[in-house]
Amino acid sequence: MSQKILVLKGDGIGPEIVNEAIKVLTAVQHKFGLDIELHEELIGGAAFDALGSPLPDATMKKATEVDAIILGAVGGPKWSGVDGSLRPEKGLLGLRSGLDLFANFRPARLYPQLAEASSLKPALVSDLDILIVRELTGGIYFGEPRGIRTLDNGEREGFNTYVYSESEISRIAHIAFQAAQKRGRRLCSVDKSNVLEVTVLWREVVSDIATQYPDVELTHMYVDNAAMQLIRAPKQFDVILTGNMFGDILSDAAAMLTGSIGMLPSASLNSDNKGMYEPIHGTAPDIAGKGIANPLATILSVAMMYRYTFNREDVASAIEQAVNSVLDQGYRTADIVGDAQKTVSTEEMGSAVVSSLQ
Ligand code: NAD
Repeated sequence: MSQKILVLKGDGIGPEIVNEAIKVLTAVQHKFGLDIELHEELIGGAAFDALGSPLPDATMKKATEVDAIILGAVGGPKWSGVDGSLRPEKGLLGLRSGLDLFANFRPARLYPQLAEASSLKPALVSDLDILIVRELTGGIYFGEPRGIRTLDNGEREGFNTYVYSESEISRIAHIAFQAAQKRGRRLCSVDKSNVLEVTVLWREVVSDIATQYPDVELTHMYVDNAAMQLIRAPKQFDVILTGNMFGDILSDAAAMLTGSIGMLPSASLNSDNKGMYEPIHGTAPDIAGKGIANPLATILSVAMMYRYTFNREDVASAIEQAVNSVLDQGYRTADIVGDAQKTVSTEEMGSAVVSSLQ
């Protein structure tokens, strides 16, 4: 059966980096004899300019039909005056909620060749390889009621609701246990169950589900301690499972341990393992069109697509090894360049990964 993939290049550096990811996709297609059906549609500011909507019907329709989506990034100063409901970012949020992409995977992996770029000492982060699994469509970011109201005494009060149902917790927990089975078989569930009832339930449900995964070691940690441990001794973690808000914060902290935003891929999955794969960075308007953006985060997102949607660890590893090899050979885009390395363009970096794959 063919692998149906939708390509959404987006804005800013989006087209430049996605073009390199497609080059790599074509290379693995030939190397592994994959049957790939590629589609392309518009999203974000580019879609707004062409069709008046950041998420045109044709894009949403195609997104529901395919197995996986490769996305560049959306947004930029050009659309800052556009009405809030038509902003480029709405296209991305619409896709996430429309496809029920509730499981967000954010790996924080430090390539040893880039250890100097980390904010921590090399000894603390060398070979760092953490996966954060964050619940993406529930929790306090979506809970109702929410708002700002005026009390009887005239004072204003802001309020949100932190709510998770058992089924919401259980489906993200299963995903996290299964991800841990594909890695180091250790899962740390992060909550605040000493204070918040919603996370008392979180801890209970995750512990119950653990009995179905006897090969995975489960531990629990309060979020404040987890933040401290991420900075103190990040290599103690394999997979971290957490809710939407804690995941938002912890995954950005973990990303910075690796030093470069241009190296980090991400995935957002639904319960059928359909996924949207994208770099964690934005459209980088300051360097768009210059041909100097780092395409590796997007290329590594393609590796994640093969690991999680298509269940092809062999293809995922081949892409990751090719990236490792080009770093070993000293290829660097401007964002990760150190002393005595050759600076290459976006296109040259993509071609180097392709050569290494072949
Ligand atoms: P950004 O991630 O686009 O850029 C931050 C800095 O990192 C910039 O200096 C940029 O040049 C650099 N950078 C980012 N990616 C790089 C790469 N691949 N190679 C080399 N350098 C890279 O964040 P920002 O400047 O805050 O946002 C710019 C626009 O992107 C905004 O409109 C924002 O809303 C949007 N954005 C989109 C997404 C998304 O589509 N998922 C995510 C974040 C931001």
